[in-house]
Amino acid sequence: MADYDVIVIGAGPGGYVCAIRCAQLGLKTAVVEGRETLGGTCLNVGCIPSKALLHATHSLHEAEHNFADMGLKGKAPSVDWEQMKGYKATVVGQNTGGIEFLFKKNKIDWLKGWGSIPEAGKVKVGEEVHNAKNIVIASGSEAASIPGAEVTIDEKIVVTSTGALDLPKIPKKMVVVGAGVIGLEMGSVYARLGTEVTVVEFLDHITPGMDADVQRAFQKILSKQGLNFVLGAAVQKVDTLKTKAKVTYKLRKDDSEHTIDADTVLVATGRKPFTEGLSLDTLGVELSKQGQIVTDAHWATSVKGIYAIGDVISGPMLAHKAEDEGMAVAEVLAGKHGHVNYDVIPGVIYTTPEVATVGKTEIQLKEEGRAYKVGKFSFMGNARAKAVHQGDGFVKLLADKDTDRILGVHIIGPGAGDLVHEVCVAMEFGASAQDLALTCHAHPTYSEAVREAALACGDGAIHA
Ligand code: FAD
Repeated sequence: MADYDVIVIGAGPGGYVCAIRCAQLGLKTAVVEGRETLGGTCLNVGCIPSKALLHATHSLHEAEHNFADMGLKGKAPSVDWEQMKGYKATVVGQNTGGIEFLFKKNKIDWLKGWGSIPEAGKVKVGEEVHNAKNIVIASGSEAASIPGAEVTIDEKIVVTSTGALDLPKIPKKMVVVGAGVIGLEMGSVYARLGTEVTVVEFLDHITPGMDADVQRAFQKILSKQGLNFVLGAAVQKVDTLKTKAKVTYKLRKDDSEHTIDADTVLVATGRKPFTEGLSLDTLGVELSKQGQIVTDAHWATSVKGIYAIGDVISGPMLAHKAEDEGMAVAEVLAGKHGHVNYDVIPGVIYTTPEVATVGKTEIQLKEEGRAYKVGKFSFMGNARAKAVHQGDGFVKLLADKDTDRILGVHIIGPGAGDLVHEVCVAMEFGASAQDLALTCHAHPTYSEAVREAALACGDGAIHA
């Protein structure tokens, strides 16, 4: 048993970042983590392994489709799936090991095992009870099931993203249920590996909540890459038989019933907060109807001395949102002023092309009754994008009609996940579209497309 200023439960991006900042601010800190390795969902079975597979399969796609065009002749590489998974495991290991190093460097104790909170100020791990002036819950999320459908996830034939990252072999046919970020990233991985991928989505469009122009362009590009889409379809059940599965769905427009066979079904219908085993009900920690821990503006729960951050509370389930909350709550616990600007949290899809978005969509601005202008620029007008076979896509910048203040950006195109941050910084500084347009951008870079979109909000883009 030991006494701590802070015990953090969960070592995902929320928890580990919170712990490091607490330690840097002079607080005696421990982290409870039940997994064998640190880094949470993100490093072990989320952001990092998925990006490793996306990178490997993007490289394959380049070799198969674009190398010959550039004079790089010869047979396209063949896929050694075990080795590709081995590469992914190495990347994960380097990252999770990196967090362990940072814990040692910052003198953070890792309390190994699953934690519970018997009462405020105490955390139980195994048989040991530790004292903590403050407790931060960062227990994350788990995959949700398909609403209203009969489906048993066995992580072999019917899998969540965790199973999809580690399939024993590349399936011939895959059905992805849900056209959100995770479904489209994993669908892209397998489509590039030669799997026939069909994405079944309840809504009439992909990537719910995103800009409508991006949704349309993205679906068109993914279709060209070989992904099939069934939209407006409610999955009723998933039957498994030995090594196969059958997905039954009803089209919402006419209630007609259809089936698709698959070797693998990936259920990618979202994630839900994970609070199992923490004893929150006995403690009286308030939960929302969706099972999220309810917090105030300083991440305090309804029980004094207990805080919560990351996927387990409201807001977008994103690693960087969890990290920002982790840093901010650490500042609060150290008597400083932690702050997260929830209006400027970017969202990225790491397909090829990438999709990135921050701020308001046109639909949101219309709902708010706010007058806005649109500056749009196609990557076809960007020399660098064309040089690397990535002229598909555009930058769409939204600015206030009267003040020219930037309200959001929606990008589909090369490097979108990095380009978006220029606009994030601009928004944090309350910049206008003209501020971006008057900033010199190096040539030839993808970021010139952001500047051109800003120019298009004023007197016009140059290369349009
Ligand atoms: P988590 O990362 O879920 O970590 C929680 C940790 O708490 C876990 O390790 C768990 O074992 C531990 N824990 C829970 N309860 C206890 C307990 N009682 N005792 C001890 N330990 C406990 N987000 C992005 O921003 N970018 C991406 O590219 C991206 N890709 C993703 C791809 C996939 C396939 C998935 C599934 C998710 C992806 N995400 C991505 C989402 C991202 O992983 C999460 O938003 C992020 O991990 C949330 O961080 P967290 O710290 O709140 O929780």
